[in-house]
This record gives sequence, structure tokens and C-alpha cells, in this order.
Amino acid sequence: MSLKVYNTMTRSKETFVPLTPGKVNMYVCGPTVYDYIHIGNARPAIFFDIVRRYLEMSGYEVQYVVNFTDVDDKLIRKAEQSGETVPQIAEKFIAAYHEDIEALGIRKADRNPRVTENIDEIVSFIEALVDKGFAYASGGDVYFRTEKFEEYGKLSHQNLSELQFGIRVEVGERKENPQDFVLWKGAKPGEIHWPSPWGEGRPGWHIECSAMARKYLGETLDIHGGGHDLQFPHHECEIAQSECMTGQPLAHYWMHNGYIHINNEKMSKSLGNGITVHQLVQQVKPQTLRFFFLSTHYRNPLNFSEEGLEQAGGGLDRIENGVANLRHRITVAPQGEIDGRVYEAVRRIKGQFREKMDDDFNTPDALTAVFDLISESNTYLKTADANADTLRLLLDTLEEWNNVLGILSEPAEELLDEEVERLIVERTEARKSKNWARADEIRDLLTEKGIQLEDTPQGLRWRRK
Ligand SMILES: [Zn+2]
Repeated sequence: MSLKVYNTMTRSKETFVPLTPGKVNMYVCGPTVYDYIHIGNARPAIFFDIVRRYLEMSGYEVQYVVNFTDVDDKLIRKAEQSGETVPQIAEKFIAAYHEDIEALGIRKADRNPRVTENIDEIVSFIEALVDKGFAYASGGDVYFRTEKFEEYGKLSHQNLSELQFGIRVEVGERKENPQDFVLWKGAKPGEIHWPSPWGEGRPGWHIECSAMARKYLGETLDIHGGGHDLQFPHHECEIAQSECMTGQPLAHYWMHNGYIHINNEKMSKSLGNGITVHQLVQQVKPQTLRFFFLSTHYRNPLNFSEEGLEQAGGGLDRIENGVANLRHRITVAPQGEIDGRVYEAVRRIKGQFREKMDDDFNTPDALTAVFDLISESNTYLKTADANADTLRLLLDTLEEWNNVLGILSEPAEELLDEEVERLIVERTEARKSKNWARADEIRDLLTEKGIQLEDTPQGLRWRRK
């Protein structure tokens, strides 16, 4: 089976065929760096990280670009309020973004281009659109002439007459038509600005992605991604600009992740912005967050709740315990022939994992495959003559999947001698007070860590296996 991707443009799952065999160009709209990223930003960041990793696992060479919007109204407002400059604010939150995505186990994109480093490209992009008649200058601003692009609305499946409803015209805008959108904004006094043929100003939001996608990845992308809310107007505007410029489709596959609900309420900007990734990774293990995000299909709404996080934590514990047991047993088990039954189970479950991931990145079902393999592994671990080669096959498979999912912690550290001593004392006391459950728990923990207890005439001794 080959990879199928749901394409928002056609509203259907399509077989994935890259423009250049073996290579994938992927552009995902990144954050506006005026604040810490919130859980609404974490979802696309984690999901498209999975897409990239899975494409790589499938043998593709992936070029992955995520932009930073480092100048816009929000940054300018924040600068006015805080007394810092726009570049200072951008620098601070770009650093925080890198910290946060690293904490979430998200690999850095190949490039994170910034608007302010690409002003020349943006200005010449706009100039070309003006020359071709797709854009016009008006009072220091430049606007895109939407009615010149007949296909405007094709991604979000709306037509121009529908789009006229609900469009708010900002005070001070001098557009020919309400649905025209801004490419260049003339600077107000005191605002950060760059020179252009239309006077001092700065780029509109949509044009940056068209210019940077083209500069770093070419005229047509394999995959263009982002959150559901970016379909309109942002991606629709990107399509209009780029396709009028080049005459080529901007992207072959448009992928959008679904909304986040918080305690079953649709995430509002205020509520969603309240939960930052910065705070969240202090409170919840990052692997648990990834597991939680992956347990809902990316196109479905995701309900963010304490209960959901707890469930994810429980599920992840089962997987991590299974893996820890494997890792330990391998160090003590003898070599041997790979068990035929386990071999067959691994082959079958590996097929399931690929089938599910190939089906538009069905991570919840891929996690079911992980649980199935953990069950097989736990069953095998109960056999007295488990051998290292069979255990290695199981562990390698789980680690290969983990390269895509990123849900496992690094192997646990060995227990220090003083921790072992402390646990032995605690166990003796638990036995004295007939707290058998705790005593057993400690014995299991010590066994798992490879600590062997021996009763000797001189008292209890311990050694490492
Ligand atoms: Zn964009």
C-alpha cells in the first residue's frame, strides 16, 4: 500500500506522489512571534513533525520550512506597550519557540525564514503582481485585486460572492473592492518600516509565505500545511498571489489539522492563549503531550482536558514499562534463535502500523499497533527461556516506530547505590508493618533495575546482576 494524503483542495484522500521522485518539499505556516506559543500552535507543530519523520522513514528526503512572522500588528502593539523594539520582542519569542518545540521533542525545521530577512524578495514579488495587473497601489498601501483571480476561494470551497458577506473593511483602507487584501502596508508615524516603490511600509501577512515558499522551496510545493483556521483567508490569499505570479499550482497537497477544544468548548483566542506550551511542559511530561496529541486523528477536533491527559499518561506508562522490561531483559538473556511466533507477530503488526500511517497519518490506529506489539512482548517476556535475539527484534521495532512518534523517554538511568540502600531499608520497614503491597512494589522495582537481593547469615545483601 502506498501513502494516501487527504488533500483539502480536492476534499479527498489521494495517493501521494512527490514532484521529484524521492524528495518532498514541505512548507508549514509558522508562528507570529509576539508571545509564547500556546497549545493551539503545538498541534500543527507536533503533527507536521510526525509527517516529516514518517516521510523520512518511508525513504523520502524532506526539505521542511516553517516561517516566523516577525513583524505585524501584534508585534508592533506589544512593542508600544512594553517599550521594547519589534526585533527585541521577535528575538525573545523565537528563542522561546525553539526551547518549547525542543521540549516537545519536535525536530527543528531545515529552515525558519523570517519576514524581516526577506523584505527584498517580498517587495519584488509585489512589484511583479502590480506589473501584471493583479495588484494596485492605493494611498501608500498595495492591495491584491481579488476579482482578477477567478479561482479565488477554491481551497475553502467558497465563491467570491459568498466571500463578500462578513468582510470587514478596516478604517483607513482604500480598496477597490472589500474582498481585496493588503500586500503592503504604508507605515504609520513611528512604526517600523522598510523602503519600497510605494513608500515606507511593511509587508502584509499573506505575501510573506508566498515569497518565502518560492524562495526556499520553489514554485510548487509538495505539501503546504497549517491549522484549519488558515484555510481562509490566509491560504486562499497565498494561492491567489503565488498562482497569479507563476501560473503554477502553489502546492499539490494541502493539509490542515483540526481545531482544539478545551474541556469540550471550542478554543477561543483568549482561552487558548492562556495555556502556553512553556507552562505546560513544566507540568506534563512532553512525551505524554505527544501521546495525547497523537491519540486523536489530526483532522478531527481534539479535546484538551485534564482527564484526557491522564488517560494519555496511563497509556504511555504501559508502553514505557513494556519497553523498560525489554531493555533490561536483553542485558541478561542468552543469545538464541528468533522465536517463530514472535517473528510472525512482529511482521503482522509492523504491516498494520504502516498501513495505518499510510492511511493519511492515522496515528491513533498506529498507537493501537504499538499496544499490540507491547502485549506480544509482555507475553514473550513471561517465558522462562526468552532469548536476547527475539527481544532485540521486538525492541528494534518499537524504537523504529519511536523515531516517528517520539513518545519514549531515554532509557532510565541506573539506580545509584544509595538509592538501592534506601529502597532496601524502606522495604524492610514495609514488611515489618505488613505493607506487603509496597514491599512487593520495591522488590519489583529493584528486579527491574537488575538488583538482586540475597539473604545471608550476616543479613540482607544486594548485588547488581
Ligand atoms: Zn502562511
